[in-house]
Amino acid sequence: MRLILLGPPGAGKGTQATTIATEFNIPHISTGDIFRYNIKEGTELGKKAKSFMDQGLLVPDELVVEIVEDRLKKEDCENGFLLDGFPRTVPQAEALDEVMDKMNVALNKVINIQVDKEILVERAVGRRICKGCGATYHIKFNPSSTIDQCDKCGGSLYQRDDDNEATVTRRIDVYLNETMPLIEYYEKRGKLTAIDGQQHIDKVAEDIISMLRSGK
Ligand code: ADP
Ligand code: AMP
Repeated sequence: MRLILLGPPGAGKGTQATTIATEFNIPHISTGDIFRYNIKEGTELGKKAKSFMDQGLLVPDELVVEIVEDRLKKEDCENGFLLDGFPRTVPQAEALDEVMDKMNVALNKVINIQVDKEILVERAVGRRICKGCGATYHIKFNPSSTIDQCDKCGGSLYQRDDDNEATVTRRIDVYLNETMPLIEYYEKRGKLTAIDGQQHIDKVAEDIISMLRSGK
């Protein structure tokens, strides 16, 4: 299964990606996670990406496309992959088409998780992430059972630097201007399916998995 998760910041892409990747036994590739890892490790890529991310802006296409192309060539992507947060611009989508053509593989689905703008800020600002295993929580909608501690691995939870109200608002605007055109891009190619992301996390997962299993 070769999949893309599309949707604004805070829509629930990362949350759903964990379930989908397990269900279909495919790697979850999040470009945001790759950048955060590089920032933590102090790499050149991390240094280049950080200033864009802190401002809520997109990292330049050339940098992102190169890391995705390298990642898709890894052996664990042979039977499929789930892209989360990529592509985010039309040039990125065109580059992905080229890479997949070269690899002689086709996209199965683009899952568009729909959530109203008003809800996104609260979701992103309340997001907490485990330092140990990367699991995602929400202080109100999906809290860990012990405050600031991960249920899965006991690691401590942190808030992303870019999950403050001003930066989230900027990221939503960037999504509307630069990423929304991808809805039409994939609709035209018959790849897009919309999912109601305002339901309970488990119901969103159920809808996505049954849609993928039925092939509709
Ligand atoms: P994205 O990867 O699209 O930016 P996340 O999956 O990280 O979004 O979700 C953003 C925040 O919203 C997280 O704190 C997550 O726990 C919470 N969340 C995700 N899905 C839902 C949902 N269906 N209902 C309520 N909160 C949700
Ligand atoms: P995310 O973890 O998907 O919310 O992404 C966090 C930040 O990483 C974004 O606000 C961008 O600055 C950067 N980023 C992640 N993916 C991409 C991408 N495909 N193109 C450009 N920038 C990206």
